[in-house]
Amino acid sequence: MVITTFVEPGAPIGTVDPSYSLYPVLAAIHGSPMVRVDSNLDFGLPRDLAAQMNAASVKLLFIVNPHAPSGHLITPAALSQLARDFGGVLLIDEAYVDFVDPALGHDVVPLLAQHDNVLLLRSMSKGYSLAGLRFGYGLGAESLIKPLLWKTRDSYNVDAIAQRLATASLRHRPRAAETWTAVRVERTRLTLALRQLGFSVPDSQSNFVLASVPDGASAPELQRGLERDGVLIRYFAEPRLRHALRISIGTPAQNDRLLQLLSALLPA
Ligand SMILES: *Cc1c(COP(=O)(O)O)cnc(C)c1O
Repeated sequence: MVITTFVEPGAPIGTVDPSYSLYPVLAAIHGSPMVRVDSNLDFGLPRDLAAQMNAASVKLLFIVNPHAPSGHLITPAALSQLARDFGGVLLIDEAYVDFVDPALGHDVVPLLAQHDNVLLLRSMSKGYSLAGLRFGYGLGAESLIKPLLWKTRDSYNVDAIAQRLATASLRHRPRAAETWTAVRVERTRLTLALRQLGFSVPDSQSNFVLASVPDGASAPELQRGLERDGVLIRYFAEPRLRHALRISIGTPAQNDRLLQLLSALLPA
């Protein structure tokens, strides 16, 4: 809906590289080329991102925060600067925001009062374990929300059952928050244990970690080895990610099993 509302068919859409794999698919449906700017080595935003996007006439920029597939978190201050410098709609995809450590006090909502070009997207799919419900929502200035609601939206785009279930799940937020806490605890443990096995793992604020394999190991071989034992993780055959594995945080027992299998698969 955001693409249809704010981008002329065929006009360029921006993102950083690497990023969420669905954005290029959505751009292709719209006949739009994807303008990609490499993220920094730590998967943060390059300083001249807005300038590069403006130079390429990009009118819609997708940023996933926390970042996928690394879990890197961009600060509200950096996003505010980007919103100021970028001459189009800045879409901040917060699909994983529920997993951010609350001690960081991370909150992007106050930016919406300062910038009329920022949209926040949220989803029930990850934080509320309701991917099959197909329910998400957006937050933004009235000038951005109005055309989404009254120009682009299909008449009955969210069914009554989904609305009731989404409302109920928001009411049960404390129950979902127990899972977020459990994920954070295991995220810390898994990160440290993978580092001890020789992986390089940046701190993640999401429900997965991106682990670069130790020297001499092959990421796709490890992925296939785990798959043989029924443990499914992601390998992305892309230049920036070809030595890395994206591992979702499981239950303590699942994470133990993953660590056991990995240490057996690693070259001695
Ligand atoms: C899962 C995900 C979404 C939202 O998915 P839906 O199930 O369609 O709500 C959006 N962005 C990213 C980066 C995701 O990983």
